[in-house]
Amino acid sequence: MTSKVAQVLPGVYEIFLPLPMRPTIINVYLVDCGGGWALVDTGMNSPESIATLEDAFAQVGIRIEDLDVIVGTHHHIDHFGASGELRARSHATVYVHQLEAERADRMLMFGRMGPNDRPESRAFFESHGFPIDQFPAAGMRPAWMGTSMYNPVTHPDRHLRDGDTIEVGERSFEVVWTPGHAPGHCVLFLRKEKAMIVGDHLLPKITPHVGIYPETYGDPLGDFIDSQMKVQKFDVETVLPAHGGIYHDHRHRANQLIEHHRYREAEMLDLTRAKPQSAFEVSQQVFGNEERPIYHVMAATFETLAHLEHAHLNGRARKIERNGRILFQAA
Ligand SMILES: [Zn+2]
Repeated sequence: MTSKVAQVLPGVYEIFLPLPMRPTIINVYLVDCGGGWALVDTGMNSPESIATLEDAFAQVGIRIEDLDVIVGTHHHIDHFGASGELRARSHATVYVHQLEAERADRMLMFGRMGPNDRPESRAFFESHGFPIDQFPAAGMRPAWMGTSMYNPVTHPDRHLRDGDTIEVGERSFEVVWTPGHAPGHCVLFLRKEKAMIVGDHLLPKITPHVGIYPETYGDPLGDFIDSQMKVQKFDVETVLPAHGGIYHDHRHRANQLIEHHRYREAEMLDLTRAKPQSAFEVSQQVFGNEERPIYHVMAATFETLAHLEHAHLNGRARKIERNGRILFQAA
């Protein structure tokens, strides 16, 4: 086998698909279920990614047309972007959480809109101190948006639901809803194999982005931390992440991620002790204010906002409205 596919557990194949952005590789998992084939996450719908997938399947000895089940951990392009194409070719049963199907649909809608078609989004940016006029509107959307590279299933055959078990052949995939990085993010637990396919929830080296956007509700960072507690209840020996290498101690990693966000929050709140600040102002001090692509500036701002909002909802920060701006200050 070439380096694009590796058998990581008996009948479980890890396939490395190319991405034109960072991280530059997504790992998807093809599972021989003994009487059926399941694919968890799809890569994006680029010619390179589809060709790599076809190649990897050929090495395993099957074709895309042979797939029976496709599961998306969440709606992001690298995870679910090729699901429409793969379903059309295989007629596989596609599973994704309802909240993710809705988001995939909305991403397609945004792709059909111009950058100036969403005034409410502009108001949201401004209220958090983001200097939107300094950036060209076209740069605010990723290059793939509105292209065929994002071809997700928006009407899945089945919704992933917390606690459900998907039976395929001799395998059982237990669905664990892990909101945070995305509101309907799910991981799959293979109890017999003591393995967990974790999507972006538990990455070994990087912390997944958790942000608040105009269409976000509630407390995604609080959800993310709760989801890190939740996965620790499972007895896992092999963690199969969507980016980075396979590893073993998922409880250790989950606790590291919780600690990382606790530290970040403390760091952010410290900055607001002398005077209240907007999410953008805080993010510039925490993540740096050197010139960066707008996409990174946005991610930093809205990840900061997720921390400040989480602190506010837990009584550790005050939220102040002043001249149309939303400011936060340590309580
Ligand atoms: Zn993601």
